Amino acid sequence: MRKMKTKRINISLLLISIGIITLNMSCSKHGGINDPDIPVIIKPEPGKDITTLPIIVHIIHEGEHVGEGTNLSKNRILRQIEILNEDFRRKEKTRGFNDHPDGADTRIEFILAKQNPDRKLSNGINRINRNQHSVEELGYNQNHFAQYAYWDPKNYINIWVSPLPKEAECLVLGASTGPETNLPGSHFLSVPGPNDADGILINWAHFGETDINCHARFGRTLTHEMGHFLGLLHTWGDRKCDTNDYVLDTPGVIKEVFGRNKFIGCSGEEVQIENYMNYTDDEVMNMFTKGQAERMHYVLKNHKGRNSLISSFALD
Ligand SMILES: [Zn+2]
Repeated sequence: MRKMKTKRINISLLLISIGIITLNMSCSKHGGINDPDIPVIIKPEPGKDITTLPIIVHIIHEGEHVGEGTNLSKNRILRQIEILNEDFRRKEKTRGFNDHPDGADTRIEFILAKQNPDRKLSNGINRINRNQHSVEELGYNQNHFAQYAYWDPKNYINIWVSPLPKEAECLVLGASTGPETNLPGSHFLSVPGPNDADGILINWAHFGETDINCHARFGRTLTHEMGHFLGLLHTWGDRKCDTNDYVLDTPGVIKEVFGRNKFIGCSGEEVQIENYMNYTDDEVMNMFTKGQAERMHYVLKNHKGRNSLISSFALD
């Protein structure tokens, strides 16, 4: 979950804000690194095996022509997927590159789905005019948007690009469900119940690169939410110095990390302002750590619903 300010605008946005605050709380982190109950994570072998995951982007729009307003252009969607890959692969000569000693190429990549659920060719983009559907008002959450479209989460990462009003810009960025595993701290993620939809919401204004006047305009909202989707917590966790986000190489910090200025966290160490799992500005973000990459690979290996994505027919 990413947000910036807590001001409230109108009733619908108030509901959205409440949802966000709730999710923020459910998204904090906790934990002792040396806890014997923590599963042993096998370190990925450098340079070996790239894991590719299929995405379906549901563009829930207001009836505009393709490329106008909430009905985002194909190029903007493709660029967003490219940014996601630049960030997860720490690609050189892109915003996603870093030379931090703890920085990781996660070896996880994403492609738009090549087949729809009927096994017909797909370009991985599903456009839906929301005015042609009547759905129950369930708030800003996955269950609400799944009423428009929801592809089998065992085979697709569902991303709903949602047509929020202008007033929500830079206030409501996105949200993600998280996987329940035996990893410590996974209960802080927004784990869906058996009948709940699983996937990622992104405010259309923050999907891809834009020129909006906002700290979140370089497509990092999706990078952050994908981190949650693959089991990562925020870097500040439960705001206790003696606990952690169960990732050794993210320095402890007891409050939310916003903006672009470094400050000292727990143990006199600078917070990792460039980490994608903060609320910091898109412009300063460029890092997942090796520990975070290991945690995501553990989830991909051990969580049934995430593991099945690796062998999805939608990749072919
Ligand atoms: Zn978050």
